[in-house]
Amino acid sequence: MELKVPFLADRQLESAATELLRKYAEWKGAPPRPPIPVDDIVEGLLGLSLSIDDLRTRLGKNDVLGATWLDDGHVMIDSSLEGNEGRFSFTLAHETGHWVLHRPIIEMEKVTVPLFAREPNAKPGPAIVCRDGQRDSAEIQADRFAAYLLMPATDVRAAARLVTGDPLAIDRLEARRKAGELVPELKSLAAEVIERGSFSNVSNQAMQIRLVALKLVTDASNPQRSLL
Ligand SMILES: [Zn+2]
Repeated sequence: MELKVPFLADRQLESAATELLRKYAEWKGAPPRPPIPVDDIVEGLLGLSLSIDDLRTRLGKNDVLGATWLDDGHVMIDSSLEGNEGRFSFTLAHETGHWVLHRPIIEMEKVTVPLFAREPNAKPGPAIVCRDGQRDSAEIQADRFAAYLLMPATDVRAAARLVTGDPLAIDRLEARRKAGELVPELKSLAAEVIERGSFSNVSNQAMQIRLVALKLVTDASNPQRSLL
């Protein structure tokens, strides 16, 4: 079921993520550096409980990645993501996005969410269930929040500067990405930025998207044009 949420601009999503990192720094006594400890943000700062389980069987949906139970503050990540640090952390950061961005709206009862039982035979409670490939606005907002949380702009920029100096110009970048082609230059830049910046809980794909969004790569055939 699609969650109907108000529009939030990218700038608002980014400042919500930055604000959470600021609160974490205050709580921890030191600013977080990559890899951003999203599990400690969830369990330590936000006080949510977290488990990894066969969510797909529990909910009877074979494409579930994660779910957040709102009444008891519980996040469950599907066990299929275990061992895949990038996807696991991104999904956890995505669930954090729902908690930060959407729970307040749901609590004001402006949005209704479906009920799911967390345990067999338990009473169903309101939960946000996230499935692979969902593209409604609540899901897109949570994805963007996750990217901002795990890859803060200042940290990504600093790491990219160590790798390339100036933004990297890639031939026909825009056209190739639009065509869904693999862009090896972008992939290897993302790998180097991950390495130099210690973004060990970020996937190469997520870093590629972030580098493009931050204009740390440009299209050599059309350098002035924004890639967004
Ligand atoms: Zn979601």
